[in-house]
Amino acid sequence: MDLNEKLGILADAAKYDVSCSSSGGTRKNKNGVGDSHACGICHTWADDGRCVSLLKILLSNECIYDCVYCINRSSNDVPRASFTAEEVIELTMNFYRRNYIEGLFLSSAVLKNPSHTMELMLEIVKKLRTQHKFFGYIHIKAIPGADERLINEAGMYVDRMSVNIELPSDKGLEVLAPQKPKKALLKPMHQISNKIIESKENKRLFKKSESFVPAGQSTQLIVGATPDKDLSILKLSEALYSNFNLKRVYYSAFVPTVTDPRLPALIKPPLLREHRLYQADWLLRFYGFEADELLSKTNPNFNPELDPKADWALRNLHLFPIEVNSAEYEMLLRVPGIGVKSAQRIIAARRVGRLTFDNLKRIGVVLKRAGHFVTCQGKTYESYSSNEAIVKDSLISAKLQPKSKKSVAGQMSLFSFVNDSEADESLSEFLLTESPSNSRQWLSYFNQPQDGRLLLSDIHL
Ligand code: SF4
Repeated sequence: MDLNEKLGILADAAKYDVSCSSSGGTRKNKNGVGDSHACGICHTWADDGRCVSLLKILLSNECIYDCVYCINRSSNDVPRASFTAEEVIELTMNFYRRNYIEGLFLSSAVLKNPSHTMELMLEIVKKLRTQHKFFGYIHIKAIPGADERLINEAGMYVDRMSVNIELPSDKGLEVLAPQKPKKALLKPMHQISNKIIESKENKRLFKKSESFVPAGQSTQLIVGATPDKDLSILKLSEALYSNFNLKRVYYSAFVPTVTDPRLPALIKPPLLREHRLYQADWLLRFYGFEADELLSKTNPNFNPELDPKADWALRNLHLFPIEVNSAEYEMLLRVPGIGVKSAQRIIAARRVGRLTFDNLKRIGVVLKRAGHFVTCQGKTYESYSSNEAIVKDSLISAKLQPKSKKSVAGQMSLFSFVNDSEADESLSEFLLTESPSNSRQWLSYFNQPQDGRLLLSDIHL
């Protein structure tokens, strides 16, 4: 099989990394230019807003495992291929030199055994860094069950590593991925987490010490392949963030590519659930919410009509309205229509004067939403209501328009910093309110790195 054929198979197999912002398109080339259906290069965003491209491939799809939900499972009849280490290196360097890509995302099925697969991945990243002096971004998967030494060594050459837990519960793994017990998945995560901490400590003491996975580790959870509720998924994410110091948990709506009586009879991926989980994940990481506040045993799934923050506020109307001129920062963050940056700006602006609704608007607060939850100098907003049904209707119908820079042009004032940031809270708030049809587009926003490095919007099955 020639390299082109392998590339076709193994880039196609990687397309099920559904959270990649460029995956999932179906538009084909009709005698024109470009083809969104073709896979192999995905795009992600750097923190300065640049769109960067990564070669996204599997090393192999010849899997010895038989995970029920996976298109590459050993019992599935699909074309199979494996790259050699030299082929992956050649593709990466050639594509890089032609300016097609700026980095590599390399995943793999389990070829022969976990250590053999990991050894090949190690060989690739080691040679890229040491022989070919490739300093672009590299993200690889750590293969659960592989020799610890191989994972440790690979971590010295890559920017990011991830281990996909995939199914949120032990029961789910037992039924759908019996060869991958949760313990085996958590072991390398634990190992990577410890090595990252150790490397940071070494770096603090000795500046020249080697970095280990400097862009952190991530994981993926598949949503909808098992009967697990949103609450269990979110609680698992919460535990992963706190126990393994994960950079990101990705949620991937289950794509029904294979039929099996053990799988749910889904016609299409549950994208709305995936979207709600991303919104809630954002609330856990940046808004101080806990999983148990957003969902409960009696209410274990997200409201399809409302984003999780609005849903929480509606269930806690007794806590509102709050006075923006005196409320705690943590409480401001809980108001629908107020994002992290808006809350910070409110705190800063309060130091020099008392705020009015007009000021809030200029700061970037979305009053169509926030108006039901705040007062300014004791006054309520014009559309304020304490009636739950009216507030709910208003939250559902409020459409947030991205702000036009023109609208805040003019003389500089205390509030003119509303213009300053491309990625202001209005975008994150937009993310929390926009319809799920745009989730793919806006998921890319999540991939802005927090440490100045490129992050990948990757998810592997
Ligand atoms: S999920 Fe991974 S390990 Fe399981 S069958 Fe697919 S490629 Fe193999």
